[in-house]
Amino acid sequence: MTRNDSKSAGGSEAEPARAARTPRAAVSGEPPLEATPAKVGHRARSAAGITSIFATAEHGFREMGVARTLETLGAVNQKDGFDCPSCAWPDPDGERKAVEFCENGAKAVASEATRRRATPAFFAAHSIDELLAQSDRWLEEQGRIVQPMLRRAGSDRYEAVTWDDAFALVGSELNALASPNEASFYTSGRASNEAAFLYGLFVRMFGTNNLPDCSNMCHESSGLGLNETIGIGKATIKLEDFADADAIFVIGQNPGTCHPRMLTELERAAKNGAKIVSVNPLPESGLIRFKNPQHPLSLLGAGTPIASLFLPVRVNGDVALLKGILKQLIEDDRAAGGSILAHDFIRSHTEGFEALASDLDAEPWERIVAESGVSRELIREASALAGRSERVIYTWAMGITQHANGVANVQSIVNLALARGHIGRRGTGLCPVRGHSNVQGDRTVGIWEKMGPSFLAALGREFGFEPPSEHGLDTVRTIQAMHAGRVKVFVGLGGNFLSATPDTHYTAQALARCRLTVHVSTKLNRSHLVTGEQALILPCLGRSEWDMQAMGEQFVTVEDTMGVVHASRGMLAPASRELLSEPAIVAGIAQATLGARASVDFAALAADYDRIRTHIEHVVPGFTDYNRRVREPGGFYLPNGPREGRFTTPSGRARFTVHPIPRHELGGGKLLLMTIRSHDQFNTTIYGEADRYRGITRGRRVLFVNQEDLDERELAAGMLVDLVSHHGSERRRAEAFKLVPYTIPRGCAAAYFPETNVLVPVTNVAAGSNQPASKSIPITLERRESAVEAGA
Ligand code: SF4
Repeated sequence: MTRNDSKSAGGSEAEPARAARTPRAAVSGEPPLEATPAKVGHRARSAAGITSIFATAEHGFREMGVARTLETLGAVNQKDGFDCPSCAWPDPDGERKAVEFCENGAKAVASEATRRRATPAFFAAHSIDELLAQSDRWLEEQGRIVQPMLRRAGSDRYEAVTWDDAFALVGSELNALASPNEASFYTSGRASNEAAFLYGLFVRMFGTNNLPDCSNMCHESSGLGLNETIGIGKATIKLEDFADADAIFVIGQNPGTCHPRMLTELERAAKNGAKIVSVNPLPESGLIRFKNPQHPLSLLGAGTPIASLFLPVRVNGDVALLKGILKQLIEDDRAAGGSILAHDFIRSHTEGFEALASDLDAEPWERIVAESGVSRELIREASALAGRSERVIYTWAMGITQHANGVANVQSIVNLALARGHIGRRGTGLCPVRGHSNVQGDRTVGIWEKMGPSFLAALGREFGFEPPSEHGLDTVRTIQAMHAGRVKVFVGLGGNFLSATPDTHYTAQALARCRLTVHVSTKLNRSHLVTGEQALILPCLGRSEWDMQAMGEQFVTVEDTMGVVHASRGMLAPASRELLSEPAIVAGIAQATLGARASVDFAALAADYDRIRTHIEHVVPGFTDYNRRVREPGGFYLPNGPREGRFTTPSGRARFTVHPIPRHELGGGKLLLMTIRSHDQFNTTIYGEADRYRGITRGRRVLFVNQEDLDERELAAGMLVDLVSHHGSERRRAEAFKLVPYTIPRGCAAAYFPETNVLVPVTNVAAGSNQPASKSIPITLERRESAVEAGA
């Protein structure tokens, strides 16, 4: 097979001219094949610590200089400052420390507040094909984009364009479509509530619900799984609950890399005596020991032990494991005369327990142990902990959601929590941890392809129009529709669509088939380089920058993982006088597109964000007195029934659900691959080529795999292999990965995304939620000709 053998990449189909011209390796950011220089060293024994402080300072000083670093980082996550643009972890309700950010947050801020600039001269000097040949990290390092840039049809590079011309082009292309459904409008989780609400309003006035978002790819399974069982698709805890928990189950989640300040709460809980259980195929450093950079004494010692129990579940063995823990609880409860399960709670607040108990009775222990990969003894230990702990919190992330059975995974966690009444009380609850700063808020204010009739009716009443009621396209369906030529204009409010989505080559073809692709961005990324016939980059203000509009200086608002809505005020001068805020860009597009058809003055809304917030208050429940309450330091909590023990399902009861244990037929030497992040990246943004927690430096094309699996295949550490994914008869290939023996269950493997997104079929999605199943990809390994590299 060659690089071009993937059926999904087009197979026998004729590719459009631009896609055919684009080197396939460049589309997915692959380096030259001879350059796979990753080095493997010692894994970190603890997370954060002095190394983290040095990494933070080094990155900040390099990008911003010393004075600007101190000034900028001092405002991150403060009540009068700006919200970290990275993950959605909440800030303390009460007093805050001078340092309320982690290494990742500091890198994200430094990346935005960098002094480097990608000017029109830079774009004139580099053709798009030249830029495509560069790594993601190189693209990121070119700095802030300072002017709207246009790629004209047939041109090989971007050129500067005025805002008026850019808006006019978007408007004319949108208005030339045969139907509004021929356009799709993506939102990344960085967009503020104000920008997102205005965007959703414009898109529905234009006439479509094609509003895919990054939540389609990260927590769609959580939203559906929770909504069906407890009536709300969000966390039911507050940050302060961690201090009161007796036990915390951290499932399919790597807080040390993805939500580092969660470690502060886990450390506090551990010091209070809480037992922390890590459920993960990989033993992640952040859950082993933590050296809190906020506590100088902690830096000197070995750090605080975090997880007291590690359950090395097989990739996608979570349903089996969670069923095993609950089956053991039920057996113990019967033996103890009914003193372990929360029978009163089950009787008065839930439904469906008997069906679940019967299903668990019929589930053989052999299958539970074999499919979970966790021993009966460890399952007993975890079950005993859940059984004797009065207050338990369950958190999870994409290790749970990105599977074909992602919804079942989420609902299996819910089953466990309900059986012990671990919800709706202080120190208990469920918490899907969100990966991007306002991904939850965007959904709350209307970014969803299938918002319900009550939202649409309220929006229509507020603005005097009839929103479309037909469901729109989510992210996967948008890719498929672009590929089929049914969507011809793509607009991305933030994000790096090409690198975030599955099936990279297929997605690249899909984008290349558009008439126009538009990206609202701060910095250059790969999505700007695989374009429609014409392409625009519309540069916007960053979170750290002040936002001056016609009615004076503005602030925006965001919602964190625990449903707190709060203000975010930038304090730096914008990177360029040409930049517009996201609401102003949305308003510009809306006016150019809708003209006299608009029943609202978009420019007036963008001039004063209080006006947008007043409309949100009228349309979205829970935002009463929005403008006053969001000005209070720390903001306010949105209503959350299950947090108060009130389930907002149609029956008013929480639902137990029954799910079969998923089976993976892994014959023929297959391994089950999960995609992961390195410590030097945030989502698709690559800050460096190291992952010190896992001992990797100078490269990212590595495959973590069990030594016994290597032995069985007569492979050795340091060898280069191609990864070939199997989906029905389809084969996809990612080339030249260095083998790294690792502590991971037999039959499993892990490698970084976005490099491995090429292996994820666009059609391999979670049942019900349609979320890409990026964490259970059957692969085989094919040895490359090159010999073992020295020093591996
Ligand atoms: S934990 Fe998340 S939100 Fe908090 S500073 Fe780190 S990256 Fe930013």
